[in-house]
Amino acid sequence: MNKRDSEALASRLSSQGYLITDSEQSADVILINTCSVRDGAEQKALNKMRMLIGKSGQQPRKPLFGFLGCMAQAHGEKLLEEIPGLKLVLGTHCSHKLPEYLDMLLKGEREKIADCGEMDAPPVFLKDHSLLQEGSEFPLVSAFVNIMHGCDQHCTYCIVPETRGKEFSRPIADIVDECRSLAQNGVKEVTLLGQIVTSYGKRLISASPEGLSPFVQLLEEVEKIEGLERIRFTSPHPKGYGLDLVEAYSRLNKLCESAHIPLQSGSNRILKAMRRGYTTERFLEILSQLRSVRPSIGLVTDIIVGFPGETEEDFQETMNLVRTARFDNAFIFKYSPRQHTPATEMPEQVPMEIREERHARLLALVNEIAQEAYQHKVGETLDVLVEGLSRRNVNRLQGRSRCNKIVLFEGPSAWVGTIRKFRIVRAGQYSLYGEPIETEDN
Ligand code: SF4
Repeated sequence: MNKRDSEALASRLSSQGYLITDSEQSADVILINTCSVRDGAEQKALNKMRMLIGKSGQQPRKPLFGFLGCMAQAHGEKLLEEIPGLKLVLGTHCSHKLPEYLDMLLKGEREKIADCGEMDAPPVFLKDHSLLQEGSEFPLVSAFVNIMHGCDQHCTYCIVPETRGKEFSRPIADIVDECRSLAQNGVKEVTLLGQIVTSYGKRLISASPEGLSPFVQLLEEVEKIEGLERIRFTSPHPKGYGLDLVEAYSRLNKLCESAHIPLQSGSNRILKAMRRGYTTERFLEILSQLRSVRPSIGLVTDIIVGFPGETEEDFQETMNLVRTARFDNAFIFKYSPRQHTPATEMPEQVPMEIREERHARLLALVNEIAQEAYQHKVGETLDVLVEGLSRRNVNRLQGRSRCNKIVLFEGPSAWVGTIRKFRIVRAGQYSLYGEPIETEDN
């Protein structure tokens, strides 16, 4: 979400005459778009800002410094008092006002601005996109499109309902227009974005006569867009995986066989304390339903270790579920207490050493299973959307398979933006190496 917000804001500022620089020393304006989901992310942003402001003391012309995003929303005006030199604090509900506020500050009409907006008001969705990939001359191949904002779920550990507010969805036609315009400009893949995409449209759109949820109705409309080749979405909630969504994977050709479904814990006791609204049995049933319609589906999850009250037995249940589920990857987080969330008040907070130790054990297991899953792909032929240069080796190109695995290969840059077939010859750690297969399409 933050990446998309940053991209949209950068694109909007560019269209108004600002230039993006990759050097902090030459910038007139430095904005940090912040995340609040864990304390580590907040501390990183605060330290970075203090360091930049401190360094700017030696510069002849001081840049204008601002915080955007979730931490700005959660802490508001007090950041201006706590960090001398900070001029702008702009929350998640009013990021569209950024150009206006920058103008006022740069002209000296205001000295400092903090605006966190009205959390109950519908948000303004930014539709701006840069048609070039960040920091490169390659065209945009894959784009994020916001379909909703906020979350009404209130999991007991999560600060998102406070920093992003209530759920608001965009109308289907509006989203389809944005996706169509991207496709007309050469974009081949869209990722539909929201904190809880499977709740999309629940207050806006009724189920169709065939019983399709608003989210599946949206997927059907995006599928019809000419020129668009692939659809992904993130993040879904296990509660939203009705049979209509499972069945959509077998019916919609552009819907890629990959899913990032947050598990959070393998213990039903902990899932209940987290207020997640599903059981481990139901979670495993969803995975098996998805694998039955798309056997090659790539499945990724998020897991929190050390939630208050998590015992070694609860943690072992998570380890066991991971062994059963055999995810292609899992993002593992040490529980991080967040202000105003019920979990911070729960007794039996797990000491940090135990959280770290469980994190290390689970990560080792996830890596081992993932390595087997990647190794299993060797010898297969995969359709790969070529995205650009490899991040680690500029002599290689990289792309993604439909099951969302990074594939690295040698080839001309003219391949960027095309879908080509590759035979997988080797597996790395979370990447695959391919050789192009000569076909009529290739
Ligand atoms: S569903 Fe996701 S975004 Fe919403 S409260 Fe739960 S963890 Fe946070």
